[in-house]
Amino acid sequence: MRFSWISWPHPSTSVRSVIALGALLMVVVLGMTGYEIWRQYNSTITLAERNLNVLADVLVGEIGRTISGVDSVVEQSVLDLSTEGNRPPEQIRRTLRDRATGVPAIFGLLLIDAQGLPIASLHSLSPRHHAFAQSIRASVAGQNLPIHVGTVTAAPFDGTPIIPFSRLRHDAAGNIAGITVAAMSVQYFQEIFLQVKSKTVTTLTLTLARQDGAILVQTPEGATTKMSGMTEFRPDSRDNGLIHDDDTSAGRIVAFRTLRPYGLKLSVAVNAADLLNLWRSNALRLLLAALVAALVVAALIWAILRRLALDEAQRANLRSIDNQRRMAQFSLDAGADMVVWTNDKGSIIYANPAAHQALGYAPGTLFNRSIPDIDPSVPPAAWEGRLDDLRRAGTLRFETSLRTLSGKLISVEVSIALLQADGRDHTCAVIRDIGAHKQSEAILAERTKRLEASNAELEQFAYVASHDLREPLRMVNSFVALLARRFGDQMDPEAREYVEFAREGALRMDRLILDLLEYSRVGSTGRPMAAVDLGTVLNDVRQTLALTLNEAGAELILPASLPKVWGDFDELARLLGNLIGNGLKYRHSDRLPRIEVECLTQDGQITLSVRDNGIGIAPQYFDRIFRIFQRLHGRDRYDGTGIGLAICKKIVERHGGRIWVSSTPDQGSTFFFTLKPAPAA
Ligand code: ADP
Repeated sequence: MRFSWISWPHPSTSVRSVIALGALLMVVVLGMTGYEIWRQYNSTITLAERNLNVLADVLVGEIGRTISGVDSVVEQSVLDLSTEGNRPPEQIRRTLRDRATGVPAIFGLLLIDAQGLPIASLHSLSPRHHAFAQSIRASVAGQNLPIHVGTVTAAPFDGTPIIPFSRLRHDAAGNIAGITVAAMSVQYFQEIFLQVKSKTVTTLTLTLARQDGAILVQTPEGATTKMSGMTEFRPDSRDNGLIHDDDTSAGRIVAFRTLRPYGLKLSVAVNAADLLNLWRSNALRLLLAALVAALVVAALIWAILRRLALDEAQRANLRSIDNQRRMAQFSLDAGADMVVWTNDKGSIIYANPAAHQALGYAPGTLFNRSIPDIDPSVPPAAWEGRLDDLRRAGTLRFETSLRTLSGKLISVEVSIALLQADGRDHTCAVIRDIGAHKQSEAILAERTKRLEASNAELEQFAYVASHDLREPLRMVNSFVALLARRFGDQMDPEAREYVEFAREGALRMDRLILDLLEYSRVGSTGRPMAAVDLGTVLNDVRQTLALTLNEAGAELILPASLPKVWGDFDELARLLGNLIGNGLKYRHSDRLPRIEVECLTQDGQITLSVRDNGIGIAPQYFDRIFRIFQRLHGRDRYDGTGIGLAICKKIVERHGGRIWVSSTPDQGSTFFFTLKPAPAA
């Protein structure tokens, strides 16, 4: 049986549960995936935040320590200068070198007097040095800050990028005596940044900038050109914290710290998009896995449903087989015919209740009896022969007599067939008790015989009667004629009229008897039926009626081709002659008669019609006109005996057909009749 969803108009509970379970499973899988993706997102962000905070703390500690180291060297140098007073510059330089040694962040140290001129430096002084010192002095003094961190500049000694870090010096009176500048190595800070960066996987942007946003050190270099617009650099920004900055196009997560006394800000930023890249590809992978899982679940459900559907179909199949079996059993139990199964040895293995009843056995007692026990025409030795016959023919049909338990013989018709089961021959006989049938057949045959005899007798009687009746009639006729001839002169006109009436009556009587004779002769000619060409019949009729047709100026239209029918040529000629003749006889006084014969073959039956344009017939007479001696008009208007159509009816019925009329008074009539086609030669 073909699997089809449509075969499930009402899904069973199991089908519904499987679908529900499958849907639930899919929801769980997709839900869990969604949750996991959300959780990973959160943990990615949280982890990043934590890492950024830790990094920021580490860096701020490291850089803070470095700067405060630089600061303390600068402070120390300021002190040194105040205690050592006006010592030769070479000596001061030595002191400065001693101080700077051990603080790797310091690239140079420079003492500038109140006028901005260099007093002493770690490096030997040059004119460029002078200008540099003056510009630093100007910038620090201008801002009037005790500590000042400048922007990145090129060191005058060799162009190395440095960050000037300066403190103001005051004399005993509290006036500005000059500044001490430490050139912090940008590269030193960069190395710290790189060291930190090398330990992280994600792309970080580390920035050390001044509070005003001027970048001092940044890794990767040039990642940001200006920090002043960034959220963490806004004037209202907190000192330390972590922000999600969505202002920038990429979106950043930034941990920032403030190195308060120096007015510096350190930020560790990560690009949110970069950060989420890993999460995104993970999420995609998870989604794909979930999709695959959902597909697997769907496939599983489909497979289970298919299995269930097949089971259902199988169960339905079994139910239908069982129903068929029960129906077959019922028809065996309730059937009127006997059904007897035997094995190849001729032993009865099954007999239905009808068989037990008809053969007079108690229910079930025919089992294991053999066929010769119930059929005397098959002695035990003949069983093999019957089986061979069956093997050759497949089925056999014959009449025989069976013996009941009481020894009575009953006439039966047997239809027996061979069936192979378990590699052995079995026979199944359907047996019909035809005793009653035979009896009624005999009665029917007897009755038919008697009826035929009485019919023949009747026809003989009609023939003889009409024949014999004509004799005295002829006598009456001739004597009336004689009377008229011999005594006509002596008779008064009245007597002559009476004699004329008597003669006419006798003539009419003769015509009636002749018609009756003709009526009784239909079907009694003894001629066998044969294939008759209707075309030939109609030509014959046309010739017979030629004169009448001509006189009436009538038009007779016949079909171009006509089939052959099964019948009697003469009777068919009389039938068509009568109908065409009537068409002529009952013509309309206003028009010339037109008679058309048509033929239609349909469903193995031939229907002929004869249509005229005559006076027509009122519908209430459609049946009556086919009865014998029934006329619708007086003899004075239309001559006739009223037997023509009765003869037509008898002829058509003898040919196994029927005849009828349809007509409209004053317009014309159409007579129809059916015939049987001649069997193919
Ligand atoms: P008849 O012609 O000898 O009277 P029929 O048996 O042939 O007898 O016809 C019976 C009656 O049916 C007729 O008397 C006539 O009234 C009517 N009849 C038969 N054929 C036609 C016809 N073609 N047109 C009109 N009336 C008809």
